Amino acid sequence: MKCDVLVVGGGPTGCLAAASMAHELQVKVLEEHARVGEPVQCAGLVTPRVVEMASASDAVLNKIDGACIHFPGGRVIELQGNEVKAVVVDRGEFDRRCATLAQKAGAEVLTGSKVGSVERTADGLRARTAEGELECRALLAADGYRSGVARSLGFDRARDLVRGSEVDLRLRVEDQRKVRVFLGNDVAPGFFAWAIPCGDLTRVGLCASREKGTPQDHLTRLLEEQGWAEAERVRTYSGAIPLGHIARTFADRMLVAGDAAGMAKPISGGGLFTGMTAGKLAADTFLEAFRSGDLSQKKLSIYEERWKAVYGKELRNSYRVRKVFVRMCDRDLDKAGAHLDSEKAKAVLATGDIDFPTALAPGLLKACPSLLTIAPLLIFRILWR
Ligand SMILES: Cc1cc2nc3c(=O)[nH]c(=O)nc-3n(C[C@H](O)[C@H](O)[C@H](O)COP(=O)(O)OP(=O)(O)OC[C@H]3O[C@@H](n4cnc5c(N)ncnc54)[C@H](O)[C@@H]3O)c2cc1C
Repeated sequence: MKCDVLVVGGGPTGCLAAASMAHELQVKVLEEHARVGEPVQCAGLVTPRVVEMASASDAVLNKIDGACIHFPGGRVIELQGNEVKAVVVDRGEFDRRCATLAQKAGAEVLTGSKVGSVERTADGLRARTAEGELECRALLAADGYRSGVARSLGFDRARDLVRGSEVDLRLRVEDQRKVRVFLGNDVAPGFFAWAIPCGDLTRVGLCASREKGTPQDHLTRLLEEQGWAEAERVRTYSGAIPLGHIARTFADRMLVAGDAAGMAKPISGGGLFTGMTAGKLAADTFLEAFRSGDLSQKKLSIYEERWKAVYGKELRNSYRVRKVFVRMCDRDLDKAGAHLDSEKAKAVLATGDIDFPTALAPGLLKACPSLLTIAPLLIFRILWR
């Protein structure tokens, strides 16, 4: 088999990239699982702009316009936005919409096809699968957080990783428009837990730093504490999120995008917006490179400039926030909660965009200057660098 661009990984990053270049290039997407979108490893909470990118409005299960943040000491901060801030999607369906976009553009999406190894040849790359070899002139590694392909070709790993566990409970919570977020080192050390309303189901999950015990144990405890342990478990999920993007996302004939490049947002762990944006930009870059007949790393380096121009600063600042966050004990979290529990601060928080959370920093600081006492150096870096 031969093609212009081989996309390894049939997730949203890979499929959106394929959808954006297959009208002009011969593109094959290889997905190891038998069905795109399975198994699900996601809470499915995204901004409306992400749904738009995938033309996937049919996959929307619920709309969210507010949040309740539960601090370890018992304080609850309730935020109410004046518009839809996020939507909950059926992640399996969402991924299949992305794959359909790729196929409609002319890409071939091959499922049950795992890329075992990739090697460079004189004029391209050769990928090995159980079915045989595939030669391509360029390759996009969109193979998720493990990304064996990028690793085997010399790319590094994301700096950090959190592990997640999640369950859909047959349980209807009263407020269907608000996500609940739980903070605390006993609840979800190094990250946070969530409860997302989806009609007759509630999606409860958490992520935790990998060195702080298994997320399943933390989840069992959370369900007991919230009185949800007896609710029917309709579906369980688990997975991991790499945080802190890799140092370099391009090489001769090759780009890396999405979780394979550690592009998830370090504060929330959301990786669909960043991955799909990178997928689209990788496609634009390959199109230009093929048109000019130059697939060198110099030519492809523009890809990294492009994704960094959209959210490089956000990832950098969010990672700094994360570094402070993981060092906070419950008492520090409660102190932060006390600072934020004012009408002015809540009004600012309610305007936030979950794809660009650190953009709130200047407004928050103005509304709540006492925040400076929590992490003065961090705030200085976010505001002035
Ligand atoms: C518990 C949890 C909750 C999350 N919640 C959210 C959320 O609410 N919102 C959000 O935006 N993000 C969320 N995320 C993150 C989000 O799921 C990822 O960032 C997103 O899936 C990244 O997309 P991707 O296409 O880059 O990678 P993936 O979706 O992981 O796709 C990669 C694909 O590559 C395939 N693959 C891997 N290796 C090979 C190989 N060798 N050959 C062929 N195929 C291969 C995999 O099977 C997979 O299908 C969550 C993650 C977890 C773990």
